[in-house]
Amino acid sequence: MSEQFLDTNVPGNPAYHFTIQPPVREGGAGWLRRPELVPDAGLATQCVHGGVQPDPAYGAVMPPLYLSSTFAFKDICTNAGYDYTRSGNPTRTALEEALALLEGGHGATCTSTGMSAILVALNLLPHGSHLIATVDCYGGTFRLLEHARRFYGLEVTYLDLADLGALQAALRPHTRMIWIETPSNPLLRLTDIAAVAAMGHRHPDCLVAVDNTFLSPFFQRPFALGADLVIHSTTKYLNGHSDVVGGAVVSGPGRPLLTQQIQSVNNLLGTSQSPHDCFLVLRGLKTLPLRMRQHEATAQQLAEFLLAHPAVGKVHYPGLPSHPQHDLAQRQQKGFGGMLSFELKEGGNKRLNHVLRSLKWFTLAESLGGVESLVAHPASMTHASMTPEARRSAGISDDLIRLSIGLENVEDLRSDLAQALTFP
Ligand code: PLP
Repeated sequence: MSEQFLDTNVPGNPAYHFTIQPPVREGGAGWLRRPELVPDAGLATQCVHGGVQPDPAYGAVMPPLYLSSTFAFKDICTNAGYDYTRSGNPTRTALEEALALLEGGHGATCTSTGMSAILVALNLLPHGSHLIATVDCYGGTFRLLEHARRFYGLEVTYLDLADLGALQAALRPHTRMIWIETPSNPLLRLTDIAAVAAMGHRHPDCLVAVDNTFLSPFFQRPFALGADLVIHSTTKYLNGHSDVVGGAVVSGPGRPLLTQQIQSVNNLLGTSQSPHDCFLVLRGLKTLPLRMRQHEATAQQLAEFLLAHPAVGKVHYPGLPSHPQHDLAQRQQKGFGGMLSFELKEGGNKRLNHVLRSLKWFTLAESLGGVESLVAHPASMTHASMTPEARRSAGISDDLIRLSIGLENVEDLRSDLAQALTFP
């Protein structure tokens, strides 16, 4: 046989017709996947298979990326289920189905950023509503709530939600939402979701919303604890690779009307996520369990290292027995996550800058939840949008350092922290 026929899978090769039959193209429906099994599967299986339908065209194993902004109609009322990508897109639907599944919710809507997910949730509230928010929420959430207070007449009360007596006293007849962020950013304080939800639900029409960005559904399932809405910045752990900004709002189980509302508000605000970004988040989801387990294992070791370090004062990590809500973390969460924060025993800008400048594997940057370790100074970065008074009352000191623990070797990260905490 001549050299040119070494590859038998080539038309023209005399062996071709006898050895390898060309695939028979039957259309992909029913191939490869058993989507009906996914709802009862374990979370890791759901991360891999959630939202992924058999591809009717070619049997593609990965969902195709539909970039088209618009979709053809056959006549004035017939199309294939999509008309315009702001209102709906098959790639976005795949991600929304996956997220609803992972959170155990009814449905989801994916937004351009985590902030726009929060905006969608706030736009469910009728004019003149009152909202109660956790006092040490993400700085951007605080800024948006303040904006809504000043420009849209939303009444907002900030509370330490660990104080259930204060919550009870703050609830009003027109309280329409309680905003929980647990663990909170950057102090890793916890809120007892079940207790707050039970109290909130004594008030008619009050939605309990949980920002689940820090733990992801792998470590925390707010719907099982009574929440009505789950919010994500998918920019963080769900995508996990620091190459997308995105968000999601998920509606609770058995809430078709709420699903309809979040999807229609996302469409009317024009905040829906681009198909390309949805594709990337869907890809990120597949390794979520592996990443979360490793983030957590390394964070736990580094939190213990920092706690024992002579230059370090407070360490905030729910996995430490010294964390004031360690018991609640064990009860409410399936893991402690990959975020921690700490304060220097002896602070001040000079020493703070020494640490931030000396770190080599931790990049000084905003954001969190990616494969690479990051360090942030909340007072000047993530929480700079809060007034100094608001930061002070939330307990965020100017000396606080926040770490997002990546997937590097723990030994490298530990020795990096050790050298950065050595002062001249
Ligand atoms: N929620 C939390 C807890 C966050 O940490 C962030 C951002 O850091 C957001 C929401 C906002 O998300 P995004 O930056 O994707 O708009």
